[in-house]
Amino acid sequence: MARPRVTVLGSLNTDISVPVPHLPGPGETVLAAAAASIGTGGKGANQAVAAARLGASTRMVGCCGDDEFGGRLRAALVAEGIDVTGLRSVPGATSGLALITVDPAGENVIAVAPGANGLAGEEEVAAAFSAPCDVLVLSAEIPVAVLAAALRRANAGGWKGGGGAVARGGEGRVRTVLNLAPVPEGAGRLLAGQPDWLVVNAHEAGILLGAEAADAAQAQAMAVRLAAGETGPGAGAAPLADPGSAAGPGGRHAVITLGGAGAVLAGPAVAAAIDGFRVPAVDTVGAGDAFVGALAVALASGLDPAEAVRAACAAGATATTRRGAQDGLPRPASVLAATGFRWPEISD
Ligand code: ADP
Repeated sequence: MARPRVTVLGSLNTDISVPVPHLPGPGETVLAAAAASIGTGGKGANQAVAAARLGASTRMVGCCGDDEFGGRLRAALVAEGIDVTGLRSVPGATSGLALITVDPAGENVIAVAPGANGLAGEEEVAAAFSAPCDVLVLSAEIPVAVLAAALRRANAGGWKGGGGAVARGGEGRVRTVLNLAPVPEGAGRLLAGQPDWLVVNAHEAGILLGAEAADAAQAQAMAVRLAAGETGPGAGAAPLADPGSAAGPGGRHAVITLGGAGAVLAGPAVAAAIDGFRVPAVDTVGAGDAFVGALAVALASGLDPAEAVRAACAAGATATTRRGAQDGLPRPASVLAATGFRWPEISD
């Protein structure tokens, strides 16, 4: 199989994690139980690393500061073989930072300073479309206006290979995967922009539609509603004027991830519950990002929707078997070892 091409337009953060005996209250200083760890993260960067490790030729588009953290974020992506020509170091800006305190039970308190991620703009939309790709991942820790503009541009590419980011051979427009984690203000506007694929977890689906699913059957029904373009009061914008008009020939698909229970999928020709893989989970941080990166690679590799979601579930499950966000993102061999799922063979 030819090498799938994935572009991620999203965020990059440095995660500074401090293990504390108990979470600090207001005004309190707590001495850490061990040294702080400094890691590279941000949902966009994690998804790009997941896609690269699973065999895609991957580009990361986004913004970091021209500070020391920005240099580290860039270097971490380069070390994974990711193309960073669309990663902009903004002069004078501070790179995105997540300050994480974790208690011995694994409970955490996190403060995120988006910094340069909030400065992503038209330049990034242009960069996302400046090189060909098969699947464009749009992840929600950057301004909604940027995501909306990228969706518009992908959809305007039509099926004639316009718009720059054409799929292999120029026979179709790039497919978009929108991950609304977290659900931003104005999410309804984004959904009206017709992503080909929407990926949210159960909590995020609850925000979009007004109430969280109580069981898998309800989640399945919610996925059907999301695939049809429906949103509730939590999405903060008007419903679609013309559902389905701009979606590609594959139609719009929605996936709700359900942690250890797997995921539900709905689309024009499919409604399926994909069971979770049973694994010894030690840390679920990064599972959602592994899922999204893997889904992009699987779709770009030509897997059908249900197969692609199964592949993504296998990658998400494998990510939970290792600690850390980016550190825990799997390669095909570890997916096979943890779940028995054989990742599609990819050649150059
Ligand atoms: P998020 O991390 O965004 O909240 P989920 O917790 O739903 O997302 O996890 C994403 C995917 O990772 C799930 O659909 C599932 O396939 C996999 N996954 C997550 N937790 C587990 C687990 N404990 N066991 C097996 N698979 C898991």
